[in-house]
Amino acid sequence: MENIIRIAVQKSGRLSDDSLSLIKECGIKFYNGTGKLKSTSTNFPIEFLFLRDDDIPGYVADGVADLGIVGENELVEKDKEVTVLKKLGFSKCRLSLAIPKGQEYHGVSYFEGKNIATSYPKILGDYLKSQNINAEIHEISGSVEIAPSIGLAEGICDIVSSGSTLMMNGLKEVEQIFKSEAVLIANKNLNKEKVAIVDKLLFRMNAVQTGKSNKYVLLNAPNESLDKIISLIPGMRSPTILPLAQEGWSSVHSVLSEDQFWENIEELRAAGAEGILVVPIEKMVI
Ligand code: ATP
Ligand code: MG
Repeated sequence: MENIIRIAVQKSGRLSDDSLSLIKECGIKFYNGTGKLKSTSTNFPIEFLFLRDDDIPGYVADGVADLGIVGENELVEKDKEVTVLKKLGFSKCRLSLAIPKGQEYHGVSYFEGKNIATSYPKILGDYLKSQNINAEIHEISGSVEIAPSIGLAEGICDIVSSGSTLMMNGLKEVEQIFKSEAVLIANKNLNKEKVAIVDKLLFRMNAVQTGKSNKYVLLNAPNESLDKIISLIPGMRSPTILPLAQEGWSSVHSVLSEDQFWENIEELRAAGAEGILVVPIEKMVI
């Protein structure tokens, strides 16, 4: 099976939905029935392995899978030799140190000589070393937040996104030590045929991502302010200008990043733009 690539994605968890949506948005069709551990696309040379996220870096490093989608936290923790092809912009979270709410905290030296529970002993160990702190790392595989209340540790190092789990367990976040998002990783020794397929996939992923961060903007403007409006929304090459049935007015169509749109909205209105429509873009190839 030379001309097919294998991608490892999380079977069920916080990476799964966004990983599979991204692949679907790339126009790749596959069957993903519950409980299935393997599936092959019907319209792209790709096979899926559905795994626990902990196993994905190792499978990709060993070449059991050619590609994988995994959080940077898991990737760095597992410390495997793979290539990061692309940051994917979802499953954003951070690894933080937290301590019981009532404790006073004046800096990372708080942890000197203390016991810290975590599922990320490598990332935590590297961080403590960089800060010259000697602390005991207590590795546990889950429910890290309860460690202080049951007397297992004096602090924890765990994933935080909103902080509500920490709060519920009477903890407060005191240091952010690592920022993470989902990444696409690849085996380091892919052959030419596989690289060609991976490039095709990357091309599609880039088109999806670029599309998401841009909007198609349509607006009506009096002809005398067209120069000003064109300077505000220059578009990919230049905007399309179409005459309206009403004399002296035009319709202006352009593509721009959502940020750029919001930054310029007041000036657009001041220049006389009206009837402004902002439309999502599904794919965009520049
Ligand atoms: P598995 O059963 O596959 O081992 P898991 O329980 O280890 O799953 P999940 O909780 O599904 O892992 O999280 C998977 C990844 O999603 C994490 O490693 C992290 O990169 C990211 N993540 C975790 N929590 C959040 C969150 N609250 N918000 C956003 N991303 C998160
Ligand atoms: Mg896991």
